[in-house]
Amino acid sequence: MTAFSRLSRALAKSEEDRLFFKCPGCHIVHGISHGPGPGPRWGWNGDVEKPTFTPSVLVTWSEPSDNAGEFDDVTKDVKKVCHSFVTEGCIQFLSDCTHTLAGQTVDIPSWED
Ligand SMILES: [Zn+2]
Repeated sequence: MTAFSRLSRALAKSEEDRLFFKCPGCHIVHGISHGPGPGPRWGWNGDVEKPTFTPSVLVTWSEPSDNAGEFDDVTKDVKKVCHSFVTEGCIQFLSDCTHTLAGQTVDIPSWED
């Protein structure tokens, strides 16, 4: 379990200095690693209220089928995609998102909501 500490209205960070924002499309938090270190890294403008991350944020995962009979069949897993540009505190969801905010631009939700 990651411990978050709130950085601003929009962002929190973990002990590993990863930044997190709440994704209103996925209803989960997405983590951004910045600065030196292993793994994928994003550029960050250093602004905690109106962050910009570059390049785009792409999150993919699979969920078991909603059909109970297919729940244990990994070939029936549903592929989920969340792909966005985070620019000056707004999330621009690209059209390849599988959630309902695909193609829309929204403010990063308040961390406390
Ligand atoms: Zn998302």
